[in-house]
Amino acid sequence: MALVVQKYGGTSVGTPERIRAVARRIIARKRAGDDVVAVVSAMGHVTDELVELAHSVSAEPPEREMDMLLATGEQVSIALLAMAIHAEGHDAVSFTGQQVGIVTDPVHGKAKIQKVQADRVREALADGKIVIVAGFQGVTEDGQITTLGRGGSDTTAVAVAAGIGADVCEIYTDVDGVFTADPRIVPEARKIDVISYEEMLELAASGAGVLQLRSVEFARNHGVVIHCRSSFNDEPGTIVKEADETMEQAIISGVAHDTSEAKVTIRDVPDRPGVAATVFTKMAEAHVNVDMIIQNVSEQGLTDISFTVPKTDLVRARRAVGEVVQELGARTWALDESIAKVSLVGAGMKTHPGVAAKMFSVLADAGVNIDMISTSSIRISCVIEADKVEQAVRALHSGFGLDAEMITTEVSPGCGEES
Ligand code: ASP
Ligand code: MG
Repeated sequence: MALVVQKYGGTSVGTPERIRAVARRIIARKRAGDDVVAVVSAMGHVTDELVELAHSVSAEPPEREMDMLLATGEQVSIALLAMAIHAEGHDAVSFTGQQVGIVTDPVHGKAKIQKVQADRVREALADGKIVIVAGFQGVTEDGQITTLGRGGSDTTAVAVAAGIGADVCEIYTDVDGVFTADPRIVPEARKIDVISYEEMLELAASGAGVLQLRSVEFARNHGVVIHCRSSFNDEPGTIVKEADETMEQAIISGVAHDTSEAKVTIRDVPDRPGVAATVFTKMAEAHVNVDMIIQNVSEQGLTDISFTVPKTDLVRARRAVGEVVQELGARTWALDESIAKVSLVGAGMKTHPGVAAKMFSVLADAGVNIDMISTSSIRISCVIEADKVEQAVRALHSGFGLDAEMITTEVSPGCGEES
């Protein structure tokens, strides 16, 4: 018997039929002898609709009230799922984030989980019940409702799994697992069977949307094994866990891309100590998440600083940049929203030289100009024109031998994957 946390996203519970299908899937698992806790998101596009609704009554909705509103989406889906399970003759109980004691910091809209009490979950499981928990929401020490940021139900699921010591956290989604690239762009992309936390973190941070970055961080910090799989079939998906010797060591695990960022360039900033500190302190104070940063060689004591920020932070970024430009006496600044980032991720980069050189050649051959570059020990990212992103992803995927047919012809007899 295993203790399993399952997470179902908005698409998986998008219609009454799908909710009933999820109910049956959960019941089948329960019947097989496992204890099941299901964490669910709001149905379909409900969260988007609620955001829109808020903006139709207020240009700048207060963050506290926004969380009050958004948390209702998940409350609908947990109740419906519990009802659907009852209708099939099984016992289920639904809980809000507050009821299960998901305690967060007070940062509305992107609260961080501090602890998961989960006593009620354990008690309900001990009573033989299936437990349904609302994703994406928590409560502060003083009783305010918070939400965890878009896509936050993944993090709820991992946190609940850690809190109750589950054997696995299954994240059900509308794709079959984590792929070597977005299959909508690269039809030859392959499903990855097993991947380390480290690589998954880089892929998630580079735009692979399948798992929320914070959920992977949480899983790594608490040793929760994630199984990311489809809610539309029974095929095994992708296991995310600590790297070990049994894992296949590909040099490159995948190509990710991200069109959610914009580039800010501040021109002719005085080149003296403290300038970068001033710029990025301002951004941090404005809660702008800065990603890549480039400072050019200075000429006549003046330099340019470019950096990328999420488009969702643009309103705050604009304000903060305007202020800092004045403060520093920089000449001017510019914003480019038509950029994209392509990233190559693989633990094998640590030991294989030449990956960067090859990446740049592949992009050059595909006629893609590189605007900015950043690296970690297992990732190389390039900022390019947004128009060229699909071309770049496809070129890198085949250039690094990740296309499905290439892989099968490369595997020698007897070296097939396990599982
Ligand atoms: N319903 C929330 C959202 O759409 C949380 C989630 O789906 O994980 O962002
Ligand atoms: Mg969602």
